[in-house]
Amino acid sequence: MFIDRDILSKTPEELKEILAGYNEPGYRAVQIFHWLHRKKAGSFSEMTDLPAGFREKLQADFSIFGAKIEKKLVSCIDDTVKYLLKLFDGELVEAVLMKYRHGYSMCISTQGGCKMGCSFCATGMGGFTRNLTASEMLSQIYAAEKDMGVRVSNIVLMGMGEPLDNFDNTIGFLELVSHKEGANLSLRHVTLSTCGIVDKIYELAKFKFPLTLSVSLHAPFDEVRTKLMPVNKKWGICELIEACKTYIDMTKRRISFEYALIDEINDSDECALQLSRILKGMLCHVNLIPANAVSGKDHKKSSKERMDRFKSILEKGGLNVTIRRTLGADINASCGQLRGRRDFGEVNFHETIG
Ligand code: SAH
Ligand code: SF4
Repeated sequence: MFIDRDILSKTPEELKEILAGYNEPGYRAVQIFHWLHRKKAGSFSEMTDLPAGFREKLQADFSIFGAKIEKKLVSCIDDTVKYLLKLFDGELVEAVLMKYRHGYSMCISTQGGCKMGCSFCATGMGGFTRNLTASEMLSQIYAAEKDMGVRVSNIVLMGMGEPLDNFDNTIGFLELVSHKEGANLSLRHVTLSTCGIVDKIYELAKFKFPLTLSVSLHAPFDEVRTKLMPVNKKWGICELIEACKTYIDMTKRRISFEYALIDEINDSDECALQLSRILKGMLCHVNLIPANAVSGKDHKKSSKERMDRFKSILEKGGLNVTIRRTLGADINASCGQLRGRRDFGEVNFHETIG
């Protein structure tokens, strides 16, 4: 019989089925799940309330694929922590822990690199290596929680990769992280960001998760968006907005549109007016982000005056708008700046533990 060794990706229900073959009582499944997801055990030997012989069998058949902290950067400005994490096969991904008044929020990666090739983003520059499993998404959170002795209460799928291009593992992650026997984190505290993989937005809507869907729009005209985001060639703005409207109808959840303001590319009054038109009447929110600098790319963020003017045009058009605060500015921890392996050699960091 084939046994998938990745025990951290299994729900208690799946564990129960697997364990039926071990002649152990069914409640052991929940016991193991508690050890993995509540007590964050890194080895079977820690599971002291399981019989020793059973632990040995588990050890032989399964692995707990954790994420190892390879390096860590701590911002001198706001205590944001950026981690370079090593997965079981040596794959390196980044995750960022942010402290807010209400608790800790973590931005995690869903893929090694990204296939989507957005022109302003560092992640895609190194290409795509592989999808992350559900447990590899979870283990980024567990590694940071253990390292800092904190509990993460908000999660954003906005690190490296496109979550909807890794659909099944992302769904698996959402089910695990919100499982009542595990971390039990409400999906209301999860934000999933997508560049606009339209067919998967329809798929996701069917789950009716209470999470916040964040759609990276960045331009209201197809000509401009296609230059910035190649995915727009496959699904143009019209199709994307249609999918978003259906998503809102089906889930009754407000969508957050991300818009990175890039100097002289997408920050004109005309863009603001068109954006107001296409989003008019939708249950949504617009998040304006000053485009972050990426070495090797020559885009510049819009001036403060431009951003304020853009915001006021949207507000006059009846939209709900915020300008997103940038965290971890000194450690390249912001949106689109995560590039994995190559990143840690390039920045001047203030503290490295590895
Ligand atoms: N692939 C997903 C999630 C990861 S990217 C997506 O594209 O939505 C997370 C966010 O960072 C997205 O909104 C993305 O458009 C934004 N982003 C990428 N590069 C950026 C940059 N240089 N400046 C500001 N935001 C950027
Ligand atoms: Fe991929 Fe998102 Fe970066 Fe685009 S912005 S390349 S989809 S990670």
